[in-house]
Amino acid sequence: MNTGRTVVIGAGMAGLLTAGALAKAGRTVIVLEQDLGESGEAPAPRPGVPQGRQPHVLLHRGLCAIEELLPGLRAQLVAAGGVPLDTGDLAWLGERGWAPFGTPAFELVSATRPLVEHVVRERVTALPGVSLLTGARVRGLARSPSGSGWLVERADGPAVSTDLVVDASGRSSRLPRWLALLGCGEVSTSAVDARFGYAGRVYHAPPDVLGRAAGIVVLPTRELPAGGVALPVEGGRWLVAAVGAGEHRPPRDPEEFAGFLSRLRDPALADFTARARPLTEPAVHRRTGNMRHHYERLPHWPAGLLVTGDSLCAFNPVYGQGITVAAQQALLLRDALAEGTGPGWERRLLRRFARAADLPWEIATGEDLGHRERDRRPRGLAGLFGRWSGEVDRLAAHGDVRAQRALDRVYHLMAAPSCLFDPRVVAAVVRGRLMGLPAPTPRPPL
Ligand SMILES: Cc1cc2nc3c(=O)[nH]c(=O)nc-3n(C[C@H](O)[C@H](O)[C@H](O)COP(=O)(O)OP(=O)(O)OC[C@H]3O[C@@H](n4cnc5c(N)ncnc54)[C@H](O)[C@@H]3O)c2cc1C
Repeated sequence: MNTGRTVVIGAGMAGLLTAGALAKAGRTVIVLEQDLGESGEAPAPRPGVPQGRQPHVLLHRGLCAIEELLPGLRAQLVAAGGVPLDTGDLAWLGERGWAPFGTPAFELVSATRPLVEHVVRERVTALPGVSLLTGARVRGLARSPSGSGWLVERADGPAVSTDLVVDASGRSSRLPRWLALLGCGEVSTSAVDARFGYAGRVYHAPPDVLGRAAGIVVLPTRELPAGGVALPVEGGRWLVAAVGAGEHRPPRDPEEFAGFLSRLRDPALADFTARARPLTEPAVHRRTGNMRHHYERLPHWPAGLLVTGDSLCAFNPVYGQGITVAAQQALLLRDALAEGTGPGWERRLLRRFARAADLPWEIATGEDLGHRERDRRPRGLAGLFGRWSGEVDRLAAHGDVRAQRALDRVYHLMAAPSCLFDPRVVAAVVRGRLMGLPAPTPRPPL
């Protein structure tokens, strides 16, 4: 048995960050990735990550988590061309109006998904004990002959033996099927799909094309579930994505793409694309439903097995949470290995992984149920909370910076939703109710 050697299935963001956490704990790691290695000069989208052509925002919590795991990564990302920006400088059209503009909030580094992954891959594969095997598709799991470890079966080469396997193969993970074949039972799955679609297109435009604004975000609303973003990325380029649900899913055709942007609640994105030069055709992506496997509920969990990232819980990407949750899970793994791994540690860690996904899951599915069933009014605590966050959002749309920051903290997973009950925010909501709200936040100077 190769005690101390771990096999990670998938070299996406979750797999790479997991490998980083394992290596830092002194384990030898082999990452098996079905895609071939990078071939071109610049990081490029690849088949195993079809979402790689769409914008990938790393929430502030995710940036902090990755920096904690791989110190200096933020600076490396910027050196590689990532664009640092402050979310307070985004022209942000929320459900109830424009967010206050131009006061500092949270830092982001805006880059394409292939670049973020490239920089993380370079860092992780440089760690002692990590090797990445590309062109290695895993097709199943079997118990090793001794019964205490695993044989990770490959479609294209010899099986790899190990005492710990981590499945990080993403949304298309076959782990539920593999576990059923191993006699571990059927895992229950929760799914909420608001049928969001993306159409992303790369443009060239000068960095200051929006004046003082660092980028544009137009959120979909219940009345019009269609929106979009324009964000600067490496190489003097901008990534523009149209986003919409159901019959509002954006099209692939370039002219219809332009038409879609011009019908949004504000012309900011259409105006931007009219002044920028397209470098690619629109690329569409429609696999966005929230999906969560409840492995932690299986009566028996096999020793030496973990599952992380989208394989465990995939979110509607509109809320930008996936990489952040994967990074938090990597930190939990690091901490668990530091604590020591007594019997049953995998199951305990799996429960912690699941808990890390709880709040983002509530945020994403709560919003998506509202999009899917527009007349639905949640009851009980969820309903009360929804109405309260609506009050805070209304306040922000009328210029209250403190209310906006409380919303930002929850959105960036930096604080629990209870921060929306900050006494100063509560007082402002009551004042607004009694004395009327100030004028709406003006549209940022775009
Ligand atoms: C349209 C869209 C936009 C998104 N935007 C954001 C965003 O703004 N912010 C954010 O945080 N998240 C975003 N996400 C989510 C994000 O892509 C994932 O949450 C994140 O990449 C973590 O995923 P992962 O590593 O678990 O899976 P993936 O990134 O999908 O990686 C899985 C890896 O496993 C490999 N693999 C699969 N099967 C096998 C196998 N059998 N053998 C070997 N290798 C295998 C694949 O090739 C791939 O490399 C978005 C997702 C979509 C769909």
